[in-house]
Amino acid sequence: MRVLLMAGNWKMHKTTAEAVILVEGLKPYVAAARDLEVVVCPPFTALAAVARALAGSPIGLGAQNVHWEKEGAFTGEVSAPMLADLGCTYVVVGHSERRQHFGETDEIVQRKARAAVTAGLRPIVCVGESLREREAGTTWDVLEAQVKGSLRGLSGDSGIVMAYEPVWAIGTGRTATPAQAQEAHAFLRKLLEGLWSPAAAAAMRILYGGSVKPDNARDLMAQPDVDGALVGGASLDANSFGKIVRFRG
Ligand code: PEP
Repeated sequence: MRVLLMAGNWKMHKTTAEAVILVEGLKPYVAAARDLEVVVCPPFTALAAVARALAGSPIGLGAQNVHWEKEGAFTGEVSAPMLADLGCTYVVVGHSERRQHFGETDEIVQRKARAAVTAGLRPIVCVGESLREREAGTTWDVLEAQVKGSLRGLSGDSGIVMAYEPVWAIGTGRTATPAQAQEAHAFLRKLLEGLWSPAAAAAMRILYGGSVKPDNARDLMAQPDVDGALVGGASLDANSFGKIVRFRG
């Protein structure tokens, strides 16, 4: 039985004070939600303040990026042990914005995911095809290459979460239909079966990401292989993320 996970990716938004207001506004929604896990992923600068604000709350803390080394001469980078020290339990790796704007390859994503697991964090490993790839009919090849490359050397019991985020649906307002999401998630689960085992694939949570909003969350979550959401824009507002968290009503 997979517990749904709703993760909010705040990207490069929110000052410390704004971040604390946002989580305070989210708390009542989460207190009233049943059978799911909620995580917020603020920017690095707000992690400590949000960790303090979340003390005693069931809302978990995640980061949006991590370096693959534990420490060293990597100016501007933040390591997995540093994130764990701040109270993070999750970290997003391989988001399409990092792949696109910062040159992250599957090899880099895999190193980051391994560093996260080693530090006791759960990586949320993002994969997804671009519009051009979907239109060219290469979606399944792209996803297979990303999954195999990003998870190489990682075992099925290491607490990894996967996020299917079609790039054409991120921040565009264009959501995958529930059927498109289900088709991709089922494909990913099948791949994981081959990579690991049927049991590990069945236990793995696969989140959908791409313009999830309060009015489409219910239909997406109704799909059998959709185990939660990675939410960008709509997670920046306590009411809209709260309504997604409370999608069951
Ligand atoms: C994301 O950033 O992971 C994302 C899915 O963004 P949005 O919900 O805004 O499409």
